[in-house]
Amino acid sequence: MYNLTDIESVMPLMKKNGFNFSKNLGQNFIIDPGVCPEMAERSGIDRESAVLEIGPGIGVLTAELAKRAKKVLCIELDKRLLPVLAETLKDFDNVEVVNADVMKLDLGKLIEEKFGDTDVYVCANLPYYITSPVIMKLLESRLPVKAITVMVQKEAADRICAPVGSRDSGAITVAVNYYAQTEKLFDVPSESFMPSPKVDSSVIRMNIREKPPVEIKDEEFFFSVVKAAFGQRRKTALNSLSSGLGISKQTVEQALVNCGFDTNVRAETMTMDKLAEICNCLFKK
Ligand code: SAM
Repeated sequence: MYNLTDIESVMPLMKKNGFNFSKNLGQNFIIDPGVCPEMAERSGIDRESAVLEIGPGIGVLTAELAKRAKKVLCIELDKRLLPVLAETLKDFDNVEVVNADVMKLDLGKLIEEKFGDTDVYVCANLPYYITSPVIMKLLESRLPVKAITVMVQKEAADRICAPVGSRDSGAITVAVNYYAQTEKLFDVPSESFMPSPKVDSSVIRMNIREKPPVEIKDEEFFFSVVKAAFGQRRKTALNSLSSGLGISKQTVEQALVNCGFDTNVRAETMTMDKLAEICNCLFKK
């Protein structure tokens, strides 16, 4: 069995298969032996559950997931890692690797085909260059998953887990909170990776909600409102909404007043309820 946090010991296998680290693919592999067991342990999985992992690399997190779950399905884009994974994970009979770009897959179909009725969790150390698109794809596809536990850049984690309506919140905070309850689990310093990235990371968990926390008339319009409201952070919500949505200032001002807002209100001070209220006020069929 390989010690997967000792990359030097796996290097001959990686070299034999023509692998060298690609910055473009966000290939920073975990070398701190404490990180992956803790991530797997706190992701909510048990022997009865299935796990979807994005970007297994050489399988360091995969092995910890495979020890604890019924089945692990990994999606890895880099072909050169397939023979490496076949070797490093050969002792597990509950792991399957799919060679694909996660952004191009129909994840709902894949989960249905591979996991059937089993409870599904997502657990992954995400490539930084597509953190937000992957998280939003996982949430917007309304996959039948219980929780999503991912490692992301620390700043992204702080933004996603900030309370909606606080100074640190942004469009992604609201979007994620619409689908899930967020919690920050722990920080991971840059020295925990090889190669070591310039930034620190954090592990966050998103527990999928059974239903959204607010009632809105039109989801698509709600997300346009959120995008517009946070689009220009230095502007008031009035100006951002008016320019972002192409609605006259007068109409937005009236809607703000109708909803009981100060016309100087800023998007980052608006709670989920308030954002839903203004969205419903502005929505026209
Ligand atoms: N799980 C390993 C670990 O924790 O050490 C590797 C994590 S590394 C940050 C990200 C992984 O995602 C790499 O293995 C990379 O090749 C893979 N990857 C990058 N872009 C991808 C994509 N679009 N679809 C699937 N995998 C991708």
